[in-house]
Formats: sequence, C-alpha cells, structure tokens
Amino acid sequence: MTAPSIVILTGAGISAESGLGTFRDEGGLWAQHRIEDVATPEGFARNPQLVVDFYNARRAQAAEASPNAAHRALAQLQAEHAGSVTLVTQNVDDLHEKGGSTDVIHMHGALNSALCATCEHRWPAPLAMSVGQDCPNCAGPTARPDIVWFGEIPYHMERIERTLANADVFVAIGTSGNVYPAAGFVQMARHVGAETIEMNLEPGENVGLFDDVRPGKASETVPNWVAEILAG
Ligand code: NAD
Repeated sequence: MTAPSIVILTGAGISAESGLGTFRDEGGLWAQHRIEDVATPEGFARNPQLVVDFYNARRAQAAEASPNAAHRALAQLQAEHAGSVTLVTQNVDDLHEKGGSTDVIHMHGALNSALCATCEHRWPAPLAMSVGQDCPNCAGPTARPDIVWFGEIPYHMERIERTLANADVFVAIGTSGNVYPAAGFVQMARHVGAETIEMNLEPGENVGLFDDVRPGKASETVPNWVAEILAG
C-alpha cells in the first residue's frame, strides 16, 4: 500500500502554548482591537499607523516566541513520512519554520514579509515597519504588512485545492473553523473520501464534519498522532 497523502491545516491554537494569543483569548492583543480597525483594507486606509503598530507588536511578539512540541512533531512528520505532507497554516507567525518545517503554505500571509500595494513586490519586513515606507522595487511609498485581511483573497488557493483533491488524510489543528475558505477544507477533503481529524482544545464550529475528534492541547495530541502515523 502506498503511504497516505496528508494535508494539515493549522490555526492560532497551535501557537497558543508558545505564548502567542489566539483570536479568542480574553485580554490578548486581538481583544484590544476591533477586527474592522486592524484587519481590513478599509481599516488600513482609515488609520494606517494603528494597523502598522498592531502588526509591529505582533511581529515583535512572534520574534521572541519559540516553537512547541506540536510544531516540531509536524516537522518530523514532513521529514519522515513516506507520502506527501502538505502543511497549510492560517497563522502569520513563523513557528512552523522555526520548528523545522519547510514549504509551509501561509494562506493568510506572514508577519516577516512586507508587500507593496502598488506593484505587489514582496521583501523581508523589518522588525518595525513604518507608514509610507518605500517599496525597494518601484519606490512607491506604499509598503504594507503582507497579511491577508478580511475581504481579501487568501494566498495559494489553487495549490491548496489541488492538494486537497488528492488527500487521503486531512487534519485541522487549533482552528475554530469559522473563517472561510479554510473552514471549508474539511468538506473538500470529505468529498474525495479522505479521513478527517480535528485536534482542538474546544470543538471547532465545523466539528461535526470530522470522522475523528481528538480534544486536548496541541503539544500533546499532535506528537501522539504523528507517532501513530510514523509507526504505520
Ligand atoms: P481562533 O482563535 O479562532 O481559534 C483558535 C482555536 O484553537 C480554538 O478552536 C481553540 O479551541 C484552539 N486552541 C486554543 N489553544 C489550543 C491549544 N493549546 N491546543 C489546541 N487547540 C487550541 O483562530 P483561527 O481558527 O486560527 O482563526 C482563523 C483565522 O481567522 C485567522 O488566521 C485570522 O486570519 C482570522 N481571525 C481573525 C480574527 C480577528 O481578526 N480578530 C478573529 C478570528 C479569526
């Protein structure tokens, strides 16, 4: 039998034990700001300083954070599983990469990247971006955080959908299942007959669509599942 093709979707919950707050955490960075103000193109047009400061704070926090056992286990799976392992994340931190993963698909962008709103050139973001920073390619003063805001189209959708169409196993980890299109990946995987697994602290909104639900902390559930897969 050939080794199964695995597609993994991660969300804020996988980075929670690394000290990065989820969107639902009370008192966290997100709780102090309205989504409309910091995570929409309209919010950026209204008050770019607020938005740049918000992502500067998140970038600084992420730079200090270390990957946890869940990030490391997924890197081990990528390195040792005989079949394909596609890692898609909604997270904008780089803890998967710090944990040893390669080819991580950041569908909602990345804190460590800057994007020119004029020519779409990308370059490594400085730790602190500033408003109206020049693009190194076209020199327009139109740098912005390379983050997919609400109302914008997530990145790499074609590649993700192609991979899901060939998935044997789909796993969602630490995501509340209420932001589309990511929340719909489980349906695409079911459509092609893949086994679907959810690993979450609290059940996600789409929990009913999963064949197997493994509640608990990602630092425990993910290494256990990876050990099972690698043991064959
Ligand atoms: P989320 O905060 O909505 O959900 C986090 C999930 O992780 C929850 O289901 C929770 O039970 C689980 N969790 C928490 N700690 C965990 C742990 N230690 N181990 C395992 N699971 C744990 O985050 P999300 O689902 O990644 O959100 C999806 C996307 O939606 C985000 O990428 C973001 O773009 C967007 N979003 C933004 C906002 C906002 O702007 N305020 C709010 C919600 C979602």
